[in-house]
Amino acid sequence: MRYWAYLIAKLVAAVGVVWGFGVLINRLFPPDKPFKDGGPMTSYRMVAGPIILALFAIGLFWFIVWDQRYRCRTCLRRLRMPIQTGSWTHVLLGAPHTEYICTYGHGTLKVAELQITGLQQPDWEPNEDMWKELFSTEDTRRGR
Ligand SMILES: [Zn+2]
Repeated sequence: MRYWAYLIAKLVAAVGVVWGFGVLINRLFPPDKPFKDGGPMTSYRMVAGPIILALFAIGLFWFIVWDQRYRCRTCLRRLRMPIQTGSWTHVLLGAPHTEYICTYGHGTLKVAELQITGLQQPDWEPNEDMWKELFSTEDTRRGR
């Protein structure tokens, strides 16, 4: 829930940033004289302004989604310590993956490096309570 609320908050903030960028473009390139009054048929403002604004908006939203994908689903911190698993030469036995972990032990994200069967979404696996697991191994070592 918190994960999606954070994404929505970032998207709302991005809409504000894109709107501000649009206002800035409009101020930097004031409107030309109308064509009927001897102005140009097309102007930079009419053609390049919307393209620059669209590219900026698409890039910003792409960055937000990319950033969100590599965040912990529990604590929203960036996932760290990428580890390469699998093999490129033995794809059938274990396709190459990159695993990221939350440094606070909330879970593991597996991202497929090889996308043969279409786009595969990253697989998030939440961990059990790390301390419970540590204490259980210590208990079995003591023979309890
Ligand atoms: Zn976490």
